[in-house]
Amino acid sequence: MVVTEIEAKSILRKHKKIDSWFLSRYGMNLYRGCTHNCVYCDGRAEGYYVEGEFGCDVAVKVNAVDVLRRELDPKRKHTPFKRGYIIVGGGVGDSYQPLEQKYQLTRKTLELLFEKKLPVHILTKSTLVKRDIDILTKINEASKAIVSFSFSSTNEQISRVFEPGVPPPAERLEIISQFKEKGIACGMFLLPVIPFITDTKDILEKTIQDARNVGVNFIIFGGMTLKDGRQKQYFFDTLQRQYPSLVQNYQMIYRGSKWGEAIPEYYGSLHQMFNILMKSYKIPKRIPPELYAGLLSENDVVVVILEHLDYLVKLEGKKSPFGYAAYSISQLERPLSEMTGKLQTIKGVGSSTEKIILEILKTGGSEYYKHLLFG
Ligand code: SF4
Repeated sequence: MVVTEIEAKSILRKHKKIDSWFLSRYGMNLYRGCTHNCVYCDGRAEGYYVEGEFGCDVAVKVNAVDVLRRELDPKRKHTPFKRGYIIVGGGVGDSYQPLEQKYQLTRKTLELLFEKKLPVHILTKSTLVKRDIDILTKINEASKAIVSFSFSSTNEQISRVFEPGVPPPAERLEIISQFKEKGIACGMFLLPVIPFITDTKDILEKTIQDARNVGVNFIIFGGMTLKDGRQKQYFFDTLQRQYPSLVQNYQMIYRGSKWGEAIPEYYGSLHQMFNILMKSYKIPKRIPPELYAGLLSENDVVVVILEHLDYLVKLEGKKSPFGYAAYSISQLERPLSEMTGKLQTIKGVGSSTEKIILEILKTGGSEYYKHLLFG
């Protein structure tokens, strides 16, 4: 393992628009590389430019907190800070990977975000996050926090193969219970589901049940991507060793798409199965409105709800007009409430979308959305 201490020029990564999966406008990576070494990790793909041997070598942004403090200084900012959760984690390195014990960059970042009264969304696979339950409770009380864990399933054996450096699923579930007891919202990112291995009805249902039993507030679901190059090669090497009989099936569904996606027919049937299973558990399939009420700008609330609707309607196997409208609204400079007579001049907004936007502007939500989200 090679640990390289580096000086970062910037820390906050601004999204082009609100990210409706995480409800964030900004994200950050405090580490580049991750010793959790998940076999499917897309941080391994060449496009992310992580140097060294992925899974062993890690670059640590040792000046991260000083840089972040400068970036959050309102006197230095030309454009106003956008409202929403700050996502800490994901990307090319888990913020609670073992090195965090020594460097404490995530802890110090949380202390700064608490001082600045900013809402925080953590995404991790590590139980080390429990160390910061005190500061996350304070953030939750002052400005809201969400702690999300990612799982490919809650099956211990499979996790040992594909997530060799990560604490077992049962320990992650136990930590969720502890955060819930402190009144902190928790999510499960059931992502990525591993084709032909964790995508069976039994494993998916057991994972959803386990999540329900510890009281998660939402489950966000997604299939696996394998980009040609290092990521795909590494995954196939493991597959060949552990599940040789599945290699041919993988070759059938991963045919070298630019983004590493499997064929649409596979994702389609996977999402259908997930949707059918979720209906009986009534767990939201996106972050529910009570977790972002009062946190986002008026336009961003509309964008989030329309993007959630787009996903939920497609999950029902129907065509959706909402994605295009959401994108157009995300590009507007003016608040929607100043455009109420002219909403249909926005690209992608027809009469049914207009009605939903007006309902959101008036009530902060949409009945149709609630029905699909919890149904
Ligand atoms: S924990 Fe996340 S970033 Fe780290 S190896 Fe696993 S998938 Fe990649």
